[in-house]
Amino acid sequence: MLKGIKLKLYPNHTQQDQLAQMFGNDRFVWNRMLDMMNKRYQNNPDSKFLGKFQLDYLLKPFKKEYPFLKNSDSSSLQIVNEFLIQAWRNFFKDKTGKVGKPRFHSRKYLRQSYTGKSNIKVAGKRYLKVPKLGYIKSSKTDAIKGKIKRYTLSKEATGNYYLALQVELPEAKTLPKTNKQVGIDVGVADLAILSNGVKYQSFNGSYFKNKARVWQRKYSRRRHQAQVLAAQDKNRKALFPRSLDSFNNWQKAQTIKAKYQAKVANQRKDYLHKVTTELVKKYDVIVIEDLKIKNLQQNHHLAKSIANASWRMFRTMLEYKCKWYGKQLIAVDPKNTSRICSNCNYNSGEKTLDIREWTCPKCGVHHDRDINAAVNILKKAQSQVQCF
Ligand SMILES: [Zn+2]
Repeated sequence: MLKGIKLKLYPNHTQQDQLAQMFGNDRFVWNRMLDMMNKRYQNNPDSKFLGKFQLDYLLKPFKKEYPFLKNSDSSSLQIVNEFLIQAWRNFFKDKTGKVGKPRFHSRKYLRQSYTGKSNIKVAGKRYLKVPKLGYIKSSKTDAIKGKIKRYTLSKEATGNYYLALQVELPEAKTLPKTNKQVGIDVGVADLAILSNGVKYQSFNGSYFKNKARVWQRKYSRRRHQAQVLAAQDKNRKALFPRSLDSFNNWQKAQTIKAKYQAKVANQRKDYLHKVTTELVKKYDVIVIEDLKIKNLQQNHHLAKSIANASWRMFRTMLEYKCKWYGKQLIAVDPKNTSRICSNCNYNSGEKTLDIREWTCPKCGVHHDRDINAAVNILKKAQSQVQCF
């Protein structure tokens, strides 16, 4: 089983320069190979398409011609070839016309990265040994247990460096059985409502959320102003017209905005981890609605679109944690779960979202809308529960 781990890196100045070069080298190889393939294809559309093996073969003469490529982790250049072949394959395979031809990479991308598969070693509590870079300071390394298969080193728009790893874990451990089952309804104000009445609030990180909002506004305003000034220079045929990139203040706002947005996203993720781990520990069978059918249409309402993203992550976490710890996750069709009385199964029709509580006209039981739905969700799965 593969597990993803993300660490923060603290490269020193020399390593930062090396990394800039390594990101650039990957871009260089990608663009060169792509250009060559494009031309080959234009000159002779019937020519046999180059495979990864042929591209890898070209790396050797490439390195002779451009010695700076030797500063890169050599496995990363092979992976560039792999990605490029995959991008072409996706393009050829696609029948819908949505996937475009592979594009050239620009140095202006805010996120820069390279992916490698050589040997990374844990060299201490907060140190790693990375090919070509040597010892590099990182956040805590104790999560890395098992063999590292692949890694991506990146510099994000925030200016921070990260290392994302795929680790092959020896064997999943299982959690003790509790003989408990639970149905879960998801919502906007409450993230999760359980069939036993427990409710988990949605994440509320208002401090950083507000900061992110403020800097988003500053960014838009400053960028707009810079655009106006650059356009004026152009119209006046100024001797030295300023370009959009020559205005620093909107770019500064962009970095700060990205920092706060990343903070909010991280906090939300931590919260979802806390809730899902607790659920997997407490229950042997967890039943959720199959959201693919119901809630995931494009939604322009902000709170709902954030809720959608949270539900997706919530489900993904439950999926792999259940697999990981030997629990069962069942997704059921959400049809009628909020219409049927969980006590007598009478269907009293649709209830608009503002109706939070209702009384069954047939058996007279009073229901909390969400808890009733969660009970129905649990009931729907009874035929699928495995015996442990
Ligand atoms: Zn009833």
